[in-house]
Amino acid sequence: MQMITEQEEISRRLNIKGYRLTKQRLAVLKALQSTKSHPDANWIYEKVRKEIPHISPGTIYRTLGVLKEAGLLRELDYGSSLSHYDANTENHPHIVCTNCGRIDDLPLSLPLAHHAPGQAHKLEEQASKATDFLITDHRLEFYGLCPHCRSSSAD
Ligand SMILES: [Zn+2]
Ligand SMILES: [Zn+2]
Repeated sequence: MQMITEQEEISRRLNIKGYRLTKQRLAVLKALQSTKSHPDANWIYEKVRKEIPHISPGTIYRTLGVLKEAGLLRELDYGSSLSHYDANTENHPHIVCTNCGRIDDLPLSLPLAHHAPGQAHKLEEQASKATDFLITDHRLEFYGLCPHCRSSSAD
């Protein structure tokens, strides 16, 4: 799991994209790093508001965009519904509950689910060879009912 936590490194990543490390940006990143639940912007807003009461939802959205651009988080876009965010910047598989929307990391032991940072992903290499596309990213997700929703649907 690759999470960028050193303040100097966070600052360096932002500077590359022409941004500065501000109190708001650090608070948003720390809020996201404090959970493994892949929260949406509303959750992050509620969390950061406890520390910076005057912050607006708009600032949260803009900040998430900046942090994404600097490669400090990953955005999980679900089309019409709200995006969810992940402080783990390494591409990794997820499992999503189609009933309650819960998103968990999926610890697959397949060799293709893991690769060293900076090294071409095996799946992307295969996809590139098969299509002649220049592959820039991929997303591996599984869908189903989480244990909680499974047991309540069995009633
Ligand atoms: Zn569920
Ligand atoms: Zn994740």
